[in-house]
Amino acid sequence: MRTQVGIVGAGPAGLLLSHLLHLEGVESVVLESRSREAVEQTIRAGVLEQGTVDLLTSVGVGDRMQREGAVHHGIELRFDGRGHRIDFPSLTGGRAIMLYAQHEVLKDLIKARLEAGGDIRFEAPAVGLDDLDSDRPRVRFQQDGRDQELECDVVAGCDGSWGVCLPAIPADRRTEYHREYPFGWFGILAEAPQSSKEIVYTYHERGFALVSTRSPTVQRLYFQCEPDDEVGNWPDERIWAELRARLETRDGWTLAEGPIFQKGVITMRSVVCQPMQYGRLFLAGDAAHIVPATGAKGLNLAVADVVVLARALVERDRSGRTDLLDAYSDTCLRRVWRAQHFSWWMTSMLHRFPGDDPFQHQLQLSQLRYVASSPAAAASLAENYVGLPLERP
Ligand SMILES: Cc1cc2nc3c(=O)[nH]c(=O)nc-3n(C[C@H](O)[C@H](O)[C@H](O)COP(=O)(O)OP(=O)(O)OC[C@H]3O[C@@H](n4cnc5c(N)ncnc54)[C@H](O)[C@@H]3O)c2cc1C
Repeated sequence: MRTQVGIVGAGPAGLLLSHLLHLEGVESVVLESRSREAVEQTIRAGVLEQGTVDLLTSVGVGDRMQREGAVHHGIELRFDGRGHRIDFPSLTGGRAIMLYAQHEVLKDLIKARLEAGGDIRFEAPAVGLDDLDSDRPRVRFQQDGRDQELECDVVAGCDGSWGVCLPAIPADRRTEYHREYPFGWFGILAEAPQSSKEIVYTYHERGFALVSTRSPTVQRLYFQCEPDDEVGNWPDERIWAELRARLETRDGWTLAEGPIFQKGVITMRSVVCQPMQYGRLFLAGDAAHIVPATGAKGLNLAVADVVVLARALVERDRSGRTDLLDAYSDTCLRRVWRAQHFSWWMTSMLHRFPGDDPFQHQLQLSQLRYVASSPAAAASLAENYVGLPLERP
C-alpha cells in the first residue's frame, strides 16, 4: 500500500488533517486502532475556540456544530462565595467560544471523509514506523489479523498521548518537558437541567470545581480530587455534597442535580515533545503535547497543529518547497508553549495545592480578585481562552 500522507490516529488531529489535505488534492490514509463506534462515543473535550469554530465552518464541516452547538460569550470565576463574569466579546473584539462535544466534531469529520471516498481504516493499529529518515517512510499496522505496511511520503503522528509515533523518534533526538500536578479531576455526566448559562470555574478552600454543560438536559461537572482517586470512593450522594459545598454562593445559587450516568478521574499533567518532527515524521496534537484540562486547550491545539501541517504539506506537493515543513515544529511550538503557560496559570490560580499553605492561598485569592476587577487582567484571560488567531491553511 502507498499513499502521500500516512496518518496514524483518527482523533481530531488525524481526521481534520486528512480532510484539509483532501480539499487541496493531497491523498492520505488514516489508520485507527479503535472501532468507528468507539471513536464516535468517547466523551472528552467540549470547548471550541473561536478560531477552531471558524475553521471547521470554512472547510465545510461546521453545519451541525452551528445548529446544535452553543455559543458562550463568557465564563464565571467563582471565589469567596461570589461569581465574577468575564465577558469575552467586550474584551477580545467580539470573539467567543462554542460548546460542542469533541465526539460530535469527530462524527462530522468521519462522515465528511467517508462521503468523499476517504480511506479511514478502523481497528487497524499501527505497530511500528520504519525508515523515517529516508524519503520512503513506512508504517507497519495490523488489519483483519494480518500484518500490513503503508508506504508514504510523510507520516503524520496523530495517535494521542499513548501512541507509537512519539517513541519512534530516537530518544537522543527529542527533549520531553513534563509537569505532573498533585491532583486529578473527578468528572461526571449527569441528567439534569442547566445550573448556569455559562461555564463556572470555582476556587474554594475544599478545592477546584467546574460547572459545564453538554445540552439543556446533560451536564458536565468536575471537581479536584486526589491524583490516584478512584470512582469507587465516590458514591453519588458524596459527589453532590462535595459539589454543593464548593459551589455554594452567598446569594443562594442552587446546583441542579440528577442521575449520574458517567464518572471518571482524569490526570492533570503538562507534556511537550520538542521538536515535533524527525525526518519524515511530523507529530500533531496530544502525540506531541498534553495540557491540563483547565484551559480547555487540548483539542484546539490539535487543530492548530494540523492547520500548519496541512499548509506545509500542500506547499510541498504544489511547488516542492519544503521551508514550511522544515519550520513546522518551530511554528507550532510557539503556540503550544503559550497554551501550556495559560493552562498552567489557570490551573495554579484555581486549585488547592497539598500542604494547605496559607500564603499560597492568599496569593491565589489576590490573583483572582485582580482578574475579576481589572479589565487589563481580564482581557489577558479572555484573549487566551477564546484562542489566539490560527494560521490559515
Ligand atoms: C476528559 C477530558 C476532557 C477534555 N476536555 C477538553 C476541553 O474541554 N477542551 C479541549 O480543547 N481539550 C480537552 N481535552 C483534551 C482533548 O480531548 C485532546 O487534546 C484531543 O483529543 C487531542 O486530539 P488528538 O487527535 O491529538 O488525539 P486523540 O483524540 O487522543 O486521538 C488519537 C487517536 O489515535 C488512536 N491511536 C492511538 N494509538 C494508535 C495506534 N498505534 N494506531 C492507530 N491509532 C492509534 C486513538 O485510538 C485515538 O483515536 C480533554 C481531554 C479529556 C481526556
